[in-house]
Amino acid sequence: MASPLSKSIAFPTGQKYDQPIGLYINGEWRESKDTIDVINPSNGEVITSVYAAQESDVDNAVSSARKAFKTWKKLAGEERATLMNRLADLLEKNAETVAGIEALDAGKPQFSNALPDIEGSVSILRYCAGWADKIYGNVIPSGPDKLLTSKRIPYGVVSQIVPWNYPLNMAMWKIAPALCAGNCIVIKSSESSPLSLLYFAELVNDAGFPPGVLNIISGLGSVAGARMASHPDVDKIAFTGSTKTGKEIQKLASSNLKTVTLECGGKSPLIVFDDAKLDQAIYWAAFGIMYNTGQICTANSRVLVQDTIYDEFIQKFKAHVQENWFIGSPFDKKSTMGPVINKSQFEKVKGYIQKGKDEGAKLVIGDEPVTFESGYWIHPTIFVDCTQDMSIVKDEIFGPVVAISKFHSQEEAIELANDTEYGLAAMVFSKDIVTANTVASQLEAGTVYINSSNDDNIRVPFGGFKMSGTGSELGMEGVLAYTKIQAIHTNLTRD
Ligand code: NAD
Repeated sequence: MASPLSKSIAFPTGQKYDQPIGLYINGEWRESKDTIDVINPSNGEVITSVYAAQESDVDNAVSSARKAFKTWKKLAGEERATLMNRLADLLEKNAETVAGIEALDAGKPQFSNALPDIEGSVSILRYCAGWADKIYGNVIPSGPDKLLTSKRIPYGVVSQIVPWNYPLNMAMWKIAPALCAGNCIVIKSSESSPLSLLYFAELVNDAGFPPGVLNIISGLGSVAGARMASHPDVDKIAFTGSTKTGKEIQKLASSNLKTVTLECGGKSPLIVFDDAKLDQAIYWAAFGIMYNTGQICTANSRVLVQDTIYDEFIQKFKAHVQENWFIGSPFDKKSTMGPVINKSQFEKVKGYIQKGKDEGAKLVIGDEPVTFESGYWIHPTIFVDCTQDMSIVKDEIFGPVVAISKFHSQEEAIELANDTEYGLAAMVFSKDIVTANTVASQLEAGTVYINSSNDDNIRVPFGGFKMSGTGSELGMEGVLAYTKIQAIHTNLTRD
């Protein structure tokens, strides 16, 4: 059923669809006092505007979630699973349209990039639906006079805040486990990419979820997001975004000691030993920084290459990137990279490219003028001969910019890789499984890929060490993270 608050939008291909623009609260579409303009990053033009939640809208969403929780928590797991599977089917049916929305709103190439995101979102919904009737506690051994048990119960009302780089997919990493564990949700998209989640809200409505179980809002981080983090009647907050905002969320959440999960920034090192399969290392090193125009929290934005193969690696890596990674319209099937998300991100990435040059790194490719008249386009950029003191080595850039450095020994590779405040991911390339695993076990990162990069699996827990975050998403751990434990001590004697 189409939302009464919607706007007809045409993709550049001519295909039209109805875009909801309201706040989805308590199973209804609502207006609010303010709106946010939604910008197309490919040309800088306004696509539409959407209603922006105020603090009072967040309060309404939280109270509708609290009310819905009274009955949602009593539903059998298999009934929650039925609804979730129905939602997954609807998302699958509409995958191409949703991928088009991501292409328009977030600049993701529709078929090579956005469609896999939506397919991944369908898989997460189905994977978590499978967990809905398999969450249980333990019986703890004791003497004959006591029965000691623990139960896994949902938190209640959870707030979820997501970034713009995977607008629907990041939301689904949070929505699916929270629902299957029996929680009710208030989720907010990023102000830079609200459209796909609003479209998804309509599918939630069509799937027949009870009102208030899943409330979906757009809004500013400083207004709606801050209220979601500090709200006294929210039991848990799950956040994905920058480390700076993550710190702020943790402070706001302390008001009622709500549980906090943070998935934040990264500066992930990819290490190539001289016994690595070179073509394989080059393929993944390029994929892990150029895919999604480098706007990936686990992007291998630092590449460390053993000195004996350094020159050969650079020459072949440059050729591979030039051949396979190039910017183009997100609606052109040949494009492998779209624009970066917005003007401020464009200026930030350009600023880092300038800093790289100023601080003495050697630019191999990148920073050439683009042929597009408008929009936020940045070519794949490769810097070599980088050192640890350079900004492009230390800071998360979140664009298609890679800093390559040289190392001599295994010890040096580990030291350079760990020399960062972040600890999200790391990658090791070596044909020797002993070398690869010995190094992997010494890397301070929540995820280590051996002989690949960024090929995640929803069954495997994902989370950051150090300033990259706290807690896990995905896998069994990601589901259990939406439960709290209640212990029950039963006295089995009559005394
Ligand atoms: P951001 O921190 O600016 O914003 C993320 C979200 O937080 C947005 O929805 C925003 O509205 C909200 N927000 C902003 N200020 C807030 C506040 N004071 N209170 C509450 N909410 C607030 O991040 P971004 O620019 O949207 O995304 C890029 C960042 O996200 C990068 O640092 C990237 O590494 C990180 N990221 C991490 C992961 C991960 O899993 N670790 C995944 C994707 C992106």
